[in-house]
Formats: sequence, structure tokens, C-alpha cells
Amino acid sequence: MVGSPGAHSRRAPAIPFPAARNRMTAMRPALLLAVAAASVAGHHPHAAAESAPPTALTALHCGQLFDAARGSLRGASTVLVEGRRIQSVSAGHHLPEGARRIDLAGMTCLPGLIDLHTHITGETSARSYEDGFRLDPADHALRGTAYAKRTLLAGFTTIRNLGDSGNASIALRNAIEQGYVIGPRIFTAGKSIGTTGGHADPTNGRNAELGGDPGPQDGVVNSADDARKAVRQRYKDGADLIKITSTGGVLSYARNGQNPQFTVAEIEAVVATAKDYGMRVAAHAHGDEGIRRAVVAGVDSIEHGTFMSDATIALMKKHGTWYVPTLSAGAFVADKAKTPGYYPEIVRPKALAIGPQIQQTLARAWRAGVKIAFGTDAAVYPHGGNAHEFVLLVEAGMPPAAALQAATVRAAELLDQSAQLGSLDAGKFADLVAVPGDPLADIEVMESVAFVMKDGVVHKAPAASAD
Ligand SMILES: [Zn+2]
Repeated sequence: MVGSPGAHSRRAPAIPFPAARNRMTAMRPALLLAVAAASVAGHHPHAAAESAPPTALTALHCGQLFDAARGSLRGASTVLVEGRRIQSVSAGHHLPEGARRIDLAGMTCLPGLIDLHTHITGETSARSYEDGFRLDPADHALRGTAYAKRTLLAGFTTIRNLGDSGNASIALRNAIEQGYVIGPRIFTAGKSIGTTGGHADPTNGRNAELGGDPGPQDGVVNSADDARKAVRQRYKDGADLIKITSTGGVLSYARNGQNPQFTVAEIEAVVATAKDYGMRVAAHAHGDEGIRRAVVAGVDSIEHGTFMSDATIALMKKHGTWYVPTLSAGAFVADKAKTPGYYPEIVRPKALAIGPQIQQTLARAWRAGVKIAFGTDAAVYPHGGNAHEFVLLVEAGMPPAAALQAATVRAAELLDQSAQLGSLDAGKFADLVAVPGDPLADIEVMESVAFVMKDGVVHKAPAASAD
């Protein structure tokens, strides 16, 4: 939903990514991490040493354990972690010889949470529109390090980033992978792709001198040929997936938040080219016609989906298209729009109309059996508040277990990372969080994550949990 407030058409000097980066995006994560570790070891041995997970065995004694595949609690369990991976999960509490023990007996352990819709290198505020004229990609990147840490400590060990400026989220992803910065695993689209005057045109609202006429390199396309070039540019930049804005958006400096802004042929060109490079496509869309076009053109997920009709819901079921509703953003912008001056006047009516609608749409889509995955549009509201989405999903009628699955096993499926992420199973990455109490009985405990492990490294722990 973010209208790339900090984006501008000025591009950073072209510093070619190492060829390895492009190959890495197509690799399996295990290989990818190995390559990242090797390149760190080559250039910065200290960074590698600091970020290396402990190799010894750690036994996590969980009071309860959320079985993400089944959507139920298993009771007292021991999760054995070796290095960055889960070695085993078993019933009861036991401590192998020489293992370090972490006592989470009063808590429920869950897989590391996944937020599929973030903008980790920005955060909107009443100053966002003027910030767009002042901040550089380096400013976004540095702020992103603080937002990334907040997000991780809230229990989100993996995020999908759907739009940045200056490729700041790609640099942040690499810095986290290489151990320079603490934060979640990032799968990023780099710069969103839109059309002229559309939601992802970084020059909306600018005067002629500052605006210019951005093209496919800047993520602005007006034909199928442009669309192919824009996707290939994202690949060259090191993006993991593609984000398009198939309708208008709430926070961009433009009148309409719902109009279709791509032709079917343009979206088909995006999807086919992305497929060539092993990338999935996420489509921001509020209006029904723009959602319908994205679905028939074959995108993997609809983001927001605000005004989808029953016919479009049926079409999404037929195509197996995922829905990432981002209720948090809707609720937040509707609230802030009541404060005069918080958003520009051109944005305010859109925020008031679109914000409250999403929750009802999610309720209809859920009842109809559309595949739902968890995403919040973090940046529209302050980073670190991601878990409030669980409360909104349950308020809309999703059972707590389904809401937790949307942020774990289902989210991993949409990310195409089921072999590595999304459940507490032997062989997967040791990404695990714990909350005090039973989230199936009281979903609000998800907002009090007390323990966070990512890649076998503990980033947050309740006092006296280790001995
Ligand atoms: Zn967004």
C-alpha cells in the first residue's frame, strides 16, 4: 500500500552485483547460505565468526508446541537444535549429554513467524511526503537496520519485502545474510513495478523538473516489452521475486486507489518473464477489475484485494491464487485519516474508504476457501507491531490455528520455501519463537513474543530461561 514515499527517479551509480548474486537467487536456500558464508569468510572473517551459530547441541524445553501442519498443540516437547538447523522434535523434556538447555516450560513454541508484506526500509508518518524529497537510498538502508531488528524481536524471523527505493532492501538482505546486521531473512522484490502515474511511479505529485519520465529500469512500464525489461532489471539487481501494482493505491499521491493500471498482456509478460528467472509475482490490487486481470494473467498472490467481488473470489479459487489481506494497514490508515494533515488531502478519502473494507473482504474470501497467507504492509504502521494482524484475522472470523498457519506453514508455501521454513521439523532452519500462554485460546499472546531464535541463534529470551 505504501506509495514508495522515499522513492525518486535518481538512480544510484551502476555498481554491478557480483555474478554470484544472480546465480544465488535461483539456488536452494541451503546453497545460498553456504555461498553467502563462503563469501563472508573470504573477505571479512570477523563478521563470519560473530554471526556463526553455536555448533553445540541446544535443547529447547517447550511447555506446548504448535504443530503448524496440523494446526494444533502437541503438549510438552523438546526441540533439539544443532548449528542452524533443527535436529529433532520429540515429546516430553529430555537433555542429551552435553547439550545446553533453554527452559521454555511455561510457553508455547511456534515456528518463526513470516510476514509476507513489508516495506522494511521505510516507515510512513505525517512527514513521509516531504521525506521523499530529502532521503537517499543510504538513509533508507540505515533506517532499515533498525526496523529489521524490531521486526525480528517481534518474532518475525522471515519477511517478504514488497517494494523499496534504491534497492535498499536488497542491500539489507545481503547484510543480514552476511552477519553484519541483525534482522529477519528477507525475500525481496526490490523496486515495485507500476505504470506511468500508477501506484509505483516514484515521481507522482512531483513538479516537472523533479519528476521526469521514469522507465522500466525505475520500475515503470507501459507495454509488454517494458514489462519484460523491468522484470529482467529486477533480476539483475538481485531481487528474489516481483511485485506489481495492478491498481491504484491508498498512499500514492494520486486520485484513484482502485482503477486498473495494467493490461492483461502487460501482466502476462511480467508473469512469463518472472517464471523464466524462477521468481514469483505478487500483485498489489484494491479494485475488482485490477484483481481479476492479475488473477487471469497468473500472478501468485493478490495483496490487499480490498474490493474483490464474489466472482473474483471464485476465480482465485479456480486459479489457486493466494490472498494476502494486510488488515493491519487498512485499520491503521483508516484511523490516521481522521487526523487532518496526517495524509495529503488527495490521499485522505482513499484511506477512509479502503481501510475499513479489507476485513470484510477477508472474511468472505476465508469462508469461500481462498488460500490465505499472512502479510501486514509493515511500514504503513510502525515496524514491530506485525503480530497485531493475528488479532484482526481472528476478529474477521479466522480460527486462531488458521491465522497461525497463515504466518507459518502457509506463508512458507507461498514463498516456495516449504523445505526450509514454516514448521518445526527435523532438517529445517532453527527459526523458533515462544509466547507466554496458549495462542489458540487467546490470540493476543502473539503480541508478547518472549523468545526468538533465528538460524539457531537466540536473539531474545525471558530472564533465567537458560542454564
Ligand atoms: Zn505495501
